Amino acid sequence: MRDPRYDILFTPIKIGPVTAKNRFFQVPHCNGMGHAMPLAHAAMRETKAEGGWAVVSTEECEIHPSGDLTPYVEARLWDDRDIPALALMCDKVHAHGALAALELSHNGPTASNLYSREVLLAPSHQPSKYGYPSQARAMTLHDIREYRRWHREAAIRGKRAGMDIIYVYAAHDLSLAMHFLQRRRNQRSDEYGGSLENRVRLLREVLQDTRDAVGDTCAVALRFATEELLGAGGVELAEAKEIVGMLAELPDLWDVNVAAWYNDSVPSRFAGEGAQEPFIDFVKQTTSKPVVGVGRFTSPDTMVSQLKRGVLDMIGCARPSIADPFLPKKIEEGRIDDIRECIGCNICVSGDMTISPIRCTQNPTMGEEWRKDWHPERIAPKRSASRVLVVGAGPAGLEAARALGQRGYEVSLAEGRKELGGRVTREARLPGLAEWARVRDWRVGQIDKLANIAVYPDSALTAQDVLDFGAEHVVLATGCHWRRDGYGRSNGFAIPGFADNPRVFTPDDLMDGRLPDVQQPGGRVVVFDDDGFYYGSVDAELLRLRGCEVTHLTPDDSIAPWSQHTLDYRHIRKRMAKLGIEAMVSHDIVGFDGTTLTVEDVWTHQRRELACDAVVTVTARVPEDTLYQELLRREAEWSAAGLRSLRCIGDAEAPGLIAHAVYAGHRYARELEEPASGEVAFKRHFHTAHADDLLRETPAQEVP
Ligand code: ADP
Ligand code: SF4
Repeated sequence: MRDPRYDILFTPIKIGPVTAKNRFFQVPHCNGMGHAMPLAHAAMRETKAEGGWAVVSTEECEIHPSGDLTPYVEARLWDDRDIPALALMCDKVHAHGALAALELSHNGPTASNLYSREVLLAPSHQPSKYGYPSQARAMTLHDIREYRRWHREAAIRGKRAGMDIIYVYAAHDLSLAMHFLQRRRNQRSDEYGGSLENRVRLLREVLQDTRDAVGDTCAVALRFATEELLGAGGVELAEAKEIVGMLAELPDLWDVNVAAWYNDSVPSRFAGEGAQEPFIDFVKQTTSKPVVGVGRFTSPDTMVSQLKRGVLDMIGCARPSIADPFLPKKIEEGRIDDIRECIGCNICVSGDMTISPIRCTQNPTMGEEWRKDWHPERIAPKRSASRVLVVGAGPAGLEAARALGQRGYEVSLAEGRKELGGRVTREARLPGLAEWARVRDWRVGQIDKLANIAVYPDSALTAQDVLDFGAEHVVLATGCHWRRDGYGRSNGFAIPGFADNPRVFTPDDLMDGRLPDVQQPGGRVVVFDDDGFYYGSVDAELLRLRGCEVTHLTPDDSIAPWSQHTLDYRHIRKRMAKLGIEAMVSHDIVGFDGTTLTVEDVWTHQRRELACDAVVTVTARVPEDTLYQELLRREAEWSAAGLRSLRCIGDAEAPGLIAHAVYAGHRYARELEEPASGEVAFKRHFHTAHADDLLRETPAQEVP
């Protein structure tokens, strides 16, 4: 079944005292569930183990209240009471023959201590990293000894929880072991500062401590950043090479990457598969220990090449394991076409950033394993012989059709355009977004394999067509279009001069190839971004590449603020600077006459005029729901037509992310003809100990 070319990916490998059954390593990744939602977290990790990953890791795990990451929700091992939550994960991971790995971390000045109210710790006095109005204090030698004790005790707790691999973390600019390496953070003059030997001392000691504490049965892994791309203040490749040389044989496994997180999990718009190779390929030449690295690997051929060329020993994946927890199994079973490839959109990252459970554009079951009992590969069979008509083949319609087909329903999918994919097909043509077409490609590939789904492209349906079709269930996933009038978050009414102005364009115009006429030299286009995510900067980039002078104007105080949550922000700003796109923040538009734009400073309300040949307005979208409204008006005709249920989903219901549309399609398919789940459609975690306290302290008669 398996292509023999991929056999190498399935050879076991020894990591210190433990053995991984194959070369697939789910490296640590945040998930927004962590210590607060242990059942949900364990179920998510179990799915990876079931999907064939030889090693399944936690996210960062806090080892002490002085390294408290609140409001972010990560793993936690402050004391013994935190062991059961991680033991649960270990049991579930072991049940599928995988190894469990624990990433211990004390985040020093990159913690917050907002919950614990402890004073932040750092190699030297310095401000906290994330803009909290507090500083971290320089650690005394006593503090260093305490930190080593906390780390050792956490490692022992990890072992007691059942972990097979214990990480020492010196990556992402997120842990004390790394902070001591960095000249900008470590200005000490004692034996822990100054020379490289001194700056490495703590990392060496912690590795040795961990080995002494748990190394008899657990492997000790070192997660190490080889480059920060910050120049001399950061870890630089040349110095990293020396460090790897100094510590070469001390850990049982090297897990190497580029820091910080935005340089590690780079969105596909800014980096392709395997982009870290030039920064990590030296490691294997320096150590005899196994090396794991990441690169948003989704192609088994690339993975094999990494092993054969001696770049890596194990294929590290976070995002590819989120998009497809069954990636290893699919390669093992020769089902390469079935791999649901990560598109590099980083919506998964936004879960952690917004302190909510992880979600994924490609994998709508991610984060729902426990609370909704959704499995990425399995779905309940159909309840009846009903036929379902899906209108619209964007991400919502494609996913609804695919999952309904998987359940066994007889499905018809009608799409008005000649090409399938809706917004995904159109957005994937914009600069840098080509990989997003994978959302369409995977679904179309799966649909092609199912005989019970009929696809009708080039078939724009009317309400009469829908009623004539005679399906018992109809779901409309007809999408949306961008507004032209400027209405949006900042403007509750149309902007004077926008509507019907041939020099005002929308993102739809650009995607359809209708670009501002910029023949005259220096023609200036203003991209009015009242949306705050990716569209504004992508459109600005497209226009700049076509030769326009471009101003990216936003009423927000920064360009594309939401892109901070997907790690795009810095890359967007760098690209804008490189391309010469001007940024104008804190400005709204109050009028446009076709050649002159009147803008207003949102704080001073001062107005000024700018010469401008065209505006691209990125403010809000309008659901494409005329078909839905028409069918609602004709409800009296439904029963004669055999129609039992009608739903409108995805952007046609309320425009959002591609991830929302995929989720909506999946949810529709899961819930069709199933018993209603009540007001709360998912299981929740309750902190029962606290609930007991509440009951005790509230007289019974006062409980509402
Ligand atoms: P979503 O993100 O919700 O999936 P998209 O905009 O990506 O929405 O996709 C909607 C799709 O529906 C588009 O490809 C569009 O051409 C198609 N569509 C819209 N109206 C109709 C219709 N009446 N009949 C068939 N297809 C339609
Ligand atoms: Fe990949 Fe996007 Fe899914 Fe993250 S959310 S795993 S980047 S497809």
